[in-house]
Amino acid sequence: MSTANSTAKMLTHIGNTPMVELRHLDTGPCRLFAKLEQTNPGGSIKDRIALGMVEAAERDGRLKPGGTIVEATSGNTGIGLAMVASLKGYKMILIIPDKMSEEKIQHGRALGAEVIVTRTDVPPGHPLNYQTMAKDIAERTPGALYIHQHHNHDNPTVHEMTTAPEIWDQMDGDIDSVVGGIGTAGTMTGLGRYFRKVAPHLKMVLADPAGSLLASYVHTGQITEAGAWIVEGIGEDELPAVGDMNLIDEAIVIDDRESLTTARNLLKAEGIMGGSSTGTIIAAALKWCQLQTEPKRVVAIIPDGGDKYLSKMYNDHWMIDQGFIDQKNYGDLRDLIARRHDEREDITVPPDATLAIALGKMRLANISQLPVVEMDEVVGLIDESDLLHTVLGGGNFAAHVADTMTRCLETLSPDDSLDMLKATFDKGFVALIRDNDQYWGLVTRTDLLNWLRRKRLAA
Ligand code: PMP
Repeated sequence: MSTANSTAKMLTHIGNTPMVELRHLDTGPCRLFAKLEQTNPGGSIKDRIALGMVEAAERDGRLKPGGTIVEATSGNTGIGLAMVASLKGYKMILIIPDKMSEEKIQHGRALGAEVIVTRTDVPPGHPLNYQTMAKDIAERTPGALYIHQHHNHDNPTVHEMTTAPEIWDQMDGDIDSVVGGIGTAGTMTGLGRYFRKVAPHLKMVLADPAGSLLASYVHTGQITEAGAWIVEGIGEDELPAVGDMNLIDEAIVIDDRESLTTARNLLKAEGIMGGSSTGTIIAAALKWCQLQTEPKRVVAIIPDGGDKYLSKMYNDHWMIDQGFIDQKNYGDLRDLIARRHDEREDITVPPDATLAIALGKMRLANISQLPVVEMDEVVGLIDESDLLHTVLGGGNFAAHVADTMTRCLETLSPDDSLDMLKATFDKGFVALIRDNDQYWGLVTRTDLLNWLRRKRLAA
């Protein structure tokens, strides 16, 4: 088979995604169905528009063979575009805000795209804003096309032509409401246009992260100031240019904590591993279902899969650091320990381990130092600079931890003060927390910062 044939084949697997009923969650009197867009080849609903927008630009001559595609994206459109670009022989430049998960950035790079990561916390129009940067780069690059999904009318059209009729057929033309999120608004606008025609009674329900201005716009018609949120790909700080907000009948606001815990529950209850916006959408869909007094048939859109968020929402330590999973509160220095010493996950090394083992453990747990434990006693501490010092000084990775570790330890008791902790850091040490009976774990500067942040958020 020729390359061109197999290329065309892969792109034909975009769309026609499955619909499954959720049977293990509280849907009140309703039946709730999920449209699984993570089964697209690039892992998200955005493959559809990536292909549609590129082919439209090819048809009307805006994109020529050998050209460059430029896009500002929260990640998924970039992955879809990078896949289409690589299969069709275009160069790809992606500009992604820095709150997006590392997996999305790596995925784009693995597809051969040049990925530029920029600041999340700057408004539209700021030179470092991702959309402003994409426009500037496209203007400076010969043969470049800025796809501009936020302003590209092919974006909603693709959903009107493909996603919507698929849903209609899969539901046998019997749907009362559709729940989805809005980033560019391509999905909800395309679906809304189609369903207004075939099912005027159908309610379009927006699932919006707390902090986005979209839900309050639906409720009041007013533009308010946007805040910040962790959920990726949905919620906006301005009205979407290609979106028709008049198509939205209701809006439900979900905060980050509920979004992320709902996505994690969905995986356990139904075996569906969605991304963070899936959590917002399913949480809103469940609320919507529970509000109904009559049995209704409701469809929720699952925009992408959870494998792109393994380092974040599916990582318990990240959830604890963010304050989304509660740990037992002791009211003392033990509350600052990010990775409490426990048997399920031993993040210590014995003194006779090799430096290679110590380095491997640090990488796996994403930490930069390890307590060295022998017979339940902390006998030392080994960190990255100890390793570097030994290896650069002619030692090798087969050397023993005991010969490299620091024996000079700063041990604090759980009820010592924050001032004592600070004094420990000022001396350049991390603090080992132990009392007479046991070693509890260590506290680093990052742990103190995360703890302070959690406290401020809770206040
Ligand atoms: N969820 C995720 C994870 C996304 O990447 C996007 C696209 N930004 C959406 C939902 C929202 O889709 P749309 O842009 O069509 O509104």
